[in-house]
Amino acid sequence: MAKEKSNTAKLDFKLEYAAAPESKSSAKINSKYGLFINGKFEKPESKKYFDTINPATEEKIATIAEANQTDVNKAVKAARTAYNNVWSKMPAKERAKYIYRIARMIQERARELAIIETMDGGKPIRESRDIDIPLAANHFFYYAGWADKLQYAFPNKKIAPLGVAGQIIPWNFPLLMAAWKIAPALATGNTVVLKPAETTPLTALKLAEIIQESDLPPGVVNIITGAGATGAAIVNHPDINKIAFTGSTDVGKIIQRAIAGTNKKATLELGGKAANIIFDDAPLDQAVEGVINGIFFNQGHVCCAGSRLFVQESVYNKVLQKLRDRIETLIVGDPLDKNTDIGAINSKQQMDTILKYLKIGEKEGAVMHQSQCSIPKKGYFIRPTLFTNVAQSSRIVQEEIFGPVLTIQTFRTDDEVIEKANNTPYGLSAGVWTDKGSKIFNLTTKMRAGVVWANTFNKFDPTSPFGGYKESGFGREGGLHGLGAYLK
Ligand code: ADP
Repeated sequence: MAKEKSNTAKLDFKLEYAAAPESKSSAKINSKYGLFINGKFEKPESKKYFDTINPATEEKIATIAEANQTDVNKAVKAARTAYNNVWSKMPAKERAKYIYRIARMIQERARELAIIETMDGGKPIRESRDIDIPLAANHFFYYAGWADKLQYAFPNKKIAPLGVAGQIIPWNFPLLMAAWKIAPALATGNTVVLKPAETTPLTALKLAEIIQESDLPPGVVNIITGAGATGAAIVNHPDINKIAFTGSTDVGKIIQRAIAGTNKKATLELGGKAANIIFDDAPLDQAVEGVINGIFFNQGHVCCAGSRLFVQESVYNKVLQKLRDRIETLIVGDPLDKNTDIGAINSKQQMDTILKYLKIGEKEGAVMHQSQCSIPKKGYFIRPTLFTNVAQSSRIVQEEIFGPVLTIQTFRTDDEVIEKANNTPYGLSAGVWTDKGSKIFNLTTKMRAGVVWANTFNKFDPTSPFGGYKESGFGREGGLHGLGAYLK
């Protein structure tokens, strides 16, 4: 294929929007947070703290406790005691009331939670307000409904909770991932020790305040903060019955090795490199919107992001032009501004990783198309980026970048694209854009991915199971499958 020029398409017009920043005034954030153990915020035994910063401004937001082994022991002990004495004995319909109450309180405080999520993690306020927080509440509502109906969910089976669940979550959907983990665990009668990621602890700590106000019996949910060492102490604790982990494939492998030979159950939701496939019969404008959403939603910090685009050769030039035009209209900037499409990269470390991959792509001979938009001088920002002239073997095609970077390849036949789409170590999600139902059925059955979206992308619902194949992990969260993962 001829090498394309890397200049970016020029639009005839540009819409200017007046700034529309969300006010921070309703966000109540303490300057210092302890560990939430046995229903109370406590100073860490470690006496150590770390800062959480706003990645859009690089300013410190709060000081956060760092849990050590002694702190983890205390949290696990609180969870075990609550399990033995209270939670496993409580009638399921009583458990459900607490879960409902937490769901309602998340809704009541949605605005505050959305602002804090955006300040701590860098995602656009539109996304935290319209997606993260409502979905987090929905997960609690959904699983509250199941708590006293488990015998209908699993007919003819004698079921029992596992005990104490250790839950470790990432920084891309902080409150939502906490909800994915805590809600099904509580509905099935387990107690919990949860650790949010070190760059985004704040909404989990706000959730701890909500849990405290909900009068959930002390010790049923414990939320402790810290980095990898704290996570490892949870994973290796002998009195934990189940590990639920969402994060990188590298850490997933460490966890799997650590629990091998123990009785601990595990669900691992790891990385991804999803194929998004456009056939020539697809409604192209709709498909382009779906591709844009698939890769630039949450700055591309999405394990199921559609990061590998495959376009049928006959419509390639048209689609590429539309994508290049569309990225020019994306607004990158202040995540608290309601106009912003792409917010801040979550951390300096993640920004360095993405920049490293941009260099690798160029070194491999790929052509980079970046939007020309202005970006703030302070904070961690990357312009939306497309790469053409890539090969199946390119590192930017094979490795998860976890940023706003899309690779674009072409194909001619169904078999060819199935082969290319499946040729990856991962298998979390995929997308297909076509007018033909038969093509959708053909592709969805042959795609080795946990979720396959047709003529849409990145759609989530508490009733729908989510999880991967191969190096994307195992076990499912959401829906009935998500309950099964917390039951004997
Ligand atoms: P990323 O590389 O994208 O930051 P990680 O997989 O490192 O993702 O992080 C996901 C979560 O796993 C975070 O809460 C992090 O603190 C935790 N974590 C990191 N290393 C370990 C480890 N060795 N054992 C358990 N948890 C860990």
